[in-house]
Amino acid sequence: MAHAVDWQEFRAGVRLTREIIAQQPFDEFRGEEIKPGMKIQSDAEIDAFVREHAETALHPSCTCKMGYDDMAVVDKDGLVHGVEGLRVVDASIMPRVTTGNLNAPVIMMAEKLADAIRGRTPLPRSQAAYFTAGKQAVRLMGTADFPWPTASVSAAH
Ligand SMILES: Cc1cc2nc3c(=O)[nH]c(=O)nc-3n(C[C@H](O)[C@H](O)[C@H](O)COP(=O)(O)OP(=O)(O)OC[C@H]3O[C@@H](n4cnc5c(N)ncnc54)[C@H](O)[C@@H]3O)c2cc1C
Repeated sequence: MAHAVDWQEFRAGVRLTREIIAQQPFDEFRGEEIKPGMKIQSDAEIDAFVREHAETALHPSCTCKMGYDDMAVVDKDGLVHGVEGLRVVDASIMPRVTTGNLNAPVIMMAEKLADAIRGRTPLPRSQAAYFTAGKQAVRLMGTADFPWPTASVSAAH
């Protein structure tokens, strides 16, 4: 929460959640908003709620990153640089924390490295289009400050 954008994202998150839950398909399920409660509306009120109640949900990762620079620990096959026969295959080898949750990327890495360990030819590079936020904050995409990109980005990995 050291940057203004962190606060903007939290406010956007509260407001977007309200917008979603206010939609007609939720009519039969929706009750009264429990937290923060509808009396919390202004930026300052939402910020105060966040300050009081927000918790971290850590995604431990990236402690022995894959790569070839001085700080890298494993190579592209998960082999520890300078050590024979030792591999790391888990979230710790991510060079950067993913913008989403870790479980699916960990499974993807494990499947790819299982192929490497078994000497199998890697699957061809995916050509599926996917969304990237670039340097922009994902949850603010579509707002005036962060318009949606005009074209989808093709797969790079
Ligand atoms: C509370 C919580 C909620 C989460 N919620 C989500 C979610 O909703 N969605 C999502 O995508 N991700 C979620 N994550 C993140 C995700 O579950 C983990 O990031 C992911 O499982 C990491 O995979 P890993 O293989 O690196 O480690 P782990 O899944 O922790 O696997 C490590 C394995 O090594 C075993 N092990 C440890 N020491 C030894 C030893 N000495 N000998 C043999 N085996 C050993 C452990 O028993 C364990 O099975 C959550 C994480 C936590 C903690």
